Amino acid sequence: MATTYTDLIADIRRQIRTVSLEEIKHRLEQKAPMVLVDVREKDEWRAGYIPGAVHVPRGFLEIQIESKVPDKSAPVVLYCAGGVRSALAAKSLLELGYTNVESATLGFVRWKDLGYPMELPPQLTEAQRDRYSRHLLLPEVGEVGQQKLLNGRVLLLGAGGLGSPAALYLAAAGVGTLGLVDGDVVDASNLQRQILHATSRVGMAKVDSAEKALTDLNPDVKIIKFEERVTSENIDRIFEGFDVIVDGCDNFPTRYLVNDASVFKKKPVVHGSIFRFEGQVTTFVPFVGPCYRCLYPEPPPPHLAPSCQEAGVLGILPGIIGVLQATEAVKILLGKGDLLTGRLLTYDSLRMKFRELKLRRDKSCPACGESPTITSYIDYEGFCNIG
Ligand SMILES: [Zn+2]
Repeated sequence: MATTYTDLIADIRRQIRTVSLEEIKHRLEQKAPMVLVDVREKDEWRAGYIPGAVHVPRGFLEIQIESKVPDKSAPVVLYCAGGVRSALAAKSLLELGYTNVESATLGFVRWKDLGYPMELPPQLTEAQRDRYSRHLLLPEVGEVGQQKLLNGRVLLLGAGGLGSPAALYLAAAGVGTLGLVDGDVVDASNLQRQILHATSRVGMAKVDSAEKALTDLNPDVKIIKFEERVTSENIDRIFEGFDVIVDGCDNFPTRYLVNDASVFKKKPVVHGSIFRFEGQVTTFVPFVGPCYRCLYPEPPPPHLAPSCQEAGVLGILPGIIGVLQATEAVKILLGKGDLLTGRLLTYDSLRMKFRELKLRRDKSCPACGESPTITSYIDYEGFCNIG
């Protein structure tokens, strides 16, 4: 009697070694030696794959594998969408003399459902190749990195002093989606430093003025506008879907709200602030480094809070700090370099000095500590709300 499909697969599964998706993820994190081979079809690959995988469609396996994986003793892990094609492929590789072959028990469909990391193959147009050519020349960015930036979603809190340079450089770099949160309109006194805006746009909503500048700079960028102030009511809605938060709102209620939301949602926040001739930047990555409440568990009582008088600021200063924030955001999207996690970088423009302070995580932090006491948003009113 002819073998049925079910019998055939069961028989093959007995002859090959299998490996769980959890184990594959663990090996990737440990950077364990492994040649990950994706045997799905081209259109499946184009919709995303496991980071670092080599693409050899099942139909081309026997033809291409020796050029893609010349070492027959290399540890090879095969995967497909559900685990069947990779099992068939594993058997073929054993027959071809590969000695260390495993097939993923389940495939990419489950991998994606589990929310495990995935990459998209570069799908850059000719115009994009031209626009981002200086990025493509950097091995640390390249086509894969540029595609990550184009798929990246950065939320900018404030389209003012810090948000202006950050948004302009993020848009220029090709970060595909920028969220802008600002409830103000452009005032002539903003133009000394808020370079997103222009004299011709005084009186216009800042988010509209910013959208005009950014889409003019790079039409690849999608702008999502939030013409409002962040509150405990809207923060969940505003944060939804963004990978990185760039915080340029320098007031206490927002700072604590943003911190708590970033901890609840495990989203990194690149924090910047400026005062007169000095600025500072740090990157809060929840549960990796300290959060804002590790440093300052509660806001100061209102009578001790800094004066609500508008302070003077050197017009160029937010340019420097905002560009540092944009650099951190780009590194987060690319997954490259060392972030300012647990480090506060300070800049003194008069003395032209950068300094670095260590920031430590607090085990008893009310937000990210071992037994957190803050589990919902708190609106700290009574402080000044000038951004
Ligand atoms: Zn904390």
